[in-house]
Amino acid sequence: MRLAIFAALLAATTVAPVTASAAAQTSTPEAAATAIGTDMDTRVVFPLSVQQGALVIGKVPPGSSVTHDGRRLRVTGYGSVAFGVARDQEGPVQVSVTRPDGVADEISIAVQPRDFPVERVNGVPGKTVKPPPAIAKRIAREQALVTAARERDDPRTGFAERFIWPVEGRISGRFGNQRIYNGTPGSAHSGMDIAAASGTPVKAPASGVVTFAGDLYLTGGTILLDHGHGVSSNFLHLSRMDVQVGDEVRQGDVIGAVGATGRATGPHLHWGMNWLTVRIDPLLVLERGS
Ligand SMILES: [Zn+2]
Repeated sequence: MRLAIFAALLAATTVAPVTASAAAQTSTPEAAATAIGTDMDTRVVFPLSVQQGALVIGKVPPGSSVTHDGRRLRVTGYGSVAFGVARDQEGPVQVSVTRPDGVADEISIAVQPRDFPVERVNGVPGKTVKPPPAIAKRIAREQALVTAARERDDPRTGFAERFIWPVEGRISGRFGNQRIYNGTPGSAHSGMDIAAASGTPVKAPASGVVTFAGDLYLTGGTILLDHGHGVSSNFLHLSRMDVQVGDEVRQGDVIGAVGATGRATGPHLHWGMNWLTVRIDPLLVLERGS
């Protein structure tokens, strides 16, 4: 659990910044921490540095007020907070923490830039690359539904679980890559593609509540799962959906099956993640727990 990781960080640090040897023992760039304070209940712990597309999980004294990017973050009873860093974020991100005793801290987290290669995707149905006007309207309407589902800020705490892969398989498309569909530049790849046979069961990577389940023009069979605190997963191109809006699922529960519906060239699972409307990289979320 996340608390164990924080405990390890706390054991390795007395005051900020973390020592080089403590940082070297850890496997991910997020593991180095900024720790302020000396006892567990007054600690403010955030990574010193994260990558573009990261999910940042920090620890503050329970009852603190925390803001990031003009938004007040929900704080769990244990004092955990979460937010996402955009793919295109340049320069550090800031977090303001006011502890219950009124002491305020300003935290700056460095953001490491990444390389996002250009990826050419050929053979997708032409009507999904340059949709006719009537279809473009439908796509916009559907996108609004999905956006509304993503903007929820729910108190559940699935986001703090150690995420598992929803299907086992080779990564066939990475988050953030600049996509060119049939020669036409599209937006950056919003998630991670995992190659798997049609019909392969898709499992919930962490617990959550289903906030959308339906068949959409571009993304085909689509499920959104809210993991709490603005963190959500989306699963696209599904051949089958086994859940409905409002269903509560636990990590590992089967929610649907891999397919090739919508704008897809073959069966695979597209797994995207968001913090509210900020897209984050599922692979970084998986690596957090490894
Ligand atoms: Zn994809």
